[in-house]
Amino acid sequence: MLKVENLNAGYGNLNILRNLSFEVHQGEVVSILGTNGAGKTTTLRAISGLIPVKSGVIHFDNQILNKKSAEYIVKAGLVQVPEDRKLFSDMTVLENLEMGAYTRKARANLKKNLDYCYDLFPILKERTSQFAGTMSGGQQQMLAIGRALMAEPKLLILDEPSIGLSPLLTKQVFDIISEIKNNGVTILLVEQNVNQALQLANRGYVIENGEVVMSGTAQELLNDETLKASYLGIT
Ligand code: ATP
Repeated sequence: MLKVENLNAGYGNLNILRNLSFEVHQGEVVSILGTNGAGKTTTLRAISGLIPVKSGVIHFDNQILNKKSAEYIVKAGLVQVPEDRKLFSDMTVLENLEMGAYTRKARANLKKNLDYCYDLFPILKERTSQFAGTMSGGQQQMLAIGRALMAEPKLLILDEPSIGLSPLLTKQVFDIISEIKNNGVTILLVEQNVNQALQLANRGYVIENGEVVMSGTAQELLNDETLKASYLGIT
């Protein structure tokens, strides 16, 4: 579904990603792991059309996305929940969810998709008229995921959904991601929370300094001694 080959990208003259390659197949959850500053968010920005691709190829759903606009890429079905969530804080929960439905097809299915979001996140149904900016961090994360689902993504991209959340809320958010996975949505999950991400993912890629340094099935990575020592704090 998504195949990134030898991607090079960065900011201005600054090269951050170096020949980065990874793939996500239909129905999979793939995790991109790495510490602060490894280049995870930059990778997502490049595949979402938010920063230019210097070289390499981004294949998605039988198309090449290099040089396509961010709007085109969302309409093609690659929908991202950014790390800072980018909610419309002066708009209600319902209005935020409705804003997610920006393709014609998603608008036609608005009622059905809204019911799906409310089933997944009952708190959003309870808080339908509340302004997004007044919700707690965990509720805002749920709203951001809900809004992305309203666009009917072929590939849902989550950038550190657990950031800033308590362990309890993190567990709730991961449980919901697992449910979304079981409903057949393909997911690219970017996380620093290696252990929890690999409990959920089928496969993972570890990025350091803009390069893939390790990849494998979730089980292989969980059992890897180097990864255990450097990321999981287990020796
Ligand atoms: P984090 O978990 O902190 O978001 P990350 O793995 O997502 O980490 P990136 O945000 O992709 O890392 O950052 C990779 C590198 O790119 C870092 O060295 C960072 O300082 C640099 N960088 C990020 N955004 C910009 C920018 N707008 N301009 C210049 N350099 C940037």
